[in-house]
Amino acid sequence: MSIPPKSLAAVAVNARATEMREFAIPEIAPDAGLLRIEATGICGSDWGMYLNAKPGPRILGHEMIGTIAKIGDVARERWGVAEGDRVALEEYLPCGHCEYCRTGEYRSCLATDAWLPGAIRYGSTPLTVQPSLWGGYSQYLYMHPRTVIHRVPAGVPDHIAAMALPIGNGFQWTYLDGEAGPGKTVVIQGPGQQGLGCVIAAKSVGADCIIISGLARDERRLAVARELGAHHTVMVDRENLADAVKRVTDGRMADIVVDASGGGPEIVNATLPILRKRGRLLIVARKGAIDRFDLDQLIGKQIRLFGTRGHSFEAVELALKTMAAGTFPLERMSSHVVGLRDLDKALRMVGGESAERSVHITVAPWS
Ligand SMILES: [Zn+2]
Ligand SMILES: [Zn+2]
Repeated sequence: MSIPPKSLAAVAVNARATEMREFAIPEIAPDAGLLRIEATGICGSDWGMYLNAKPGPRILGHEMIGTIAKIGDVARERWGVAEGDRVALEEYLPCGHCEYCRTGEYRSCLATDAWLPGAIRYGSTPLTVQPSLWGGYSQYLYMHPRTVIHRVPAGVPDHIAAMALPIGNGFQWTYLDGEAGPGKTVVIQGPGQQGLGCVIAAKSVGADCIIISGLARDERRLAVARELGAHHTVMVDRENLADAVKRVTDGRMADIVVDASGGGPEIVNATLPILRKRGRLLIVARKGAIDRFDLDQLIGKQIRLFGTRGHSFEAVELALKTMAAGTFPLERMSSHVVGLRDLDKALRMVGGESAERSVHITVAPWS
C-alpha cells in the first residue's frame, strides 16, 4: 500500500477553533502500526472536548474505522492482523498488565483515564505527545503498541462501522450491565447516538417493552428510535415520563432505566418513580452533584444504582455482529457524512449550536 509522506488532519487548535494541518507520517517501530482512516464517527463527548482549550492543540475523534497501512513484525504477531485488514479501534490504550486488564476489564485500567497526568488515549492526546497523530479527524492515525483492535465484518460500510463504539456502549449498558432481556421493560433517557445504541441492544436481546424519552426538538431522533425498534417514544417537555411509563406498562413500571441524557440532576431524581422494585438505574451521562436524591426510595424499592461508562471488548463485538447481521435499519442513524474541512460545522451541529439537527455524523477524511 503506497503511503503519502504527509497526513492531512483537522486540528482543534483552541476552544471552538479548527485548523487544517499536515503531519509527517511517522516511522513505525516493530511493535506499532499506521492506520489509513476511512471513517470516524463524531461522539457527543467530542463537543465537550472542543469547548476546552486544554490540554492544548490536538486531533479529536476516537471512533475510527480504517485499513492497516503499515504494521511492525511484533505488532502483526501480537495483534493478529495484517496490512490491508479493515479494523475498528477503541479509544482506550490500556496497559495490558494491571488487574483490570488481566481480568478483561480494561476500560477500568488507570491508563485509560484520559484525565490522569501523562495518560494517552485516541482523540484526546495533545500534538506535543509524539508522533501527534492520535486522533480520528485525520487521514492517518498512529497505532500505539497498546491499541485495542476489532475486525470489521465484510459488507459493513465504513460509515455504519463507525458506530461500533456508540452501539457497543448500548450493548454494554443495556445488556451486559443492565441485564435487559425477554420480559423486561427498558426506559432509555436521551435519544442521542448512545441512547439509540441502547434501543438496538434492548431490541436485540428481546426486551418486551422499550421506551425512549427526549425533547420535542429531538423529533427526528425519536422517529429513528421507533424505526430501530422502540415501542414508545415520550417527549418529556410535552408529557410526564412517569405517567407515560405507568400507562404503557399498565402500572408495572420499568426493570431498567438507562440515563443517557444530557440533562441535569432533575432527570436522575425523576427516574426513581419510573422503576419497579429491584429495578436497575444506570447513569452513563455526567450529572454533577445531585440535590434531594431520595435514598429512602432507593432502599424501599431495592433499586440497584450503577455508574457506568464505555464498553468492554464483548460489547463492541456485539455491535459489529449486529451490523453484519443487517437486522436493523442502521442507515437511518447516519444523518451526515462530511469531510475534514466541514468538521467545525459538524461539531457545532452535535453541540446543538446550529439549526440543523444530526443523529450520527461520520467524518470521511479522504472525501
Ligand atoms: Zn465516544
Ligand atoms: Zn491496565
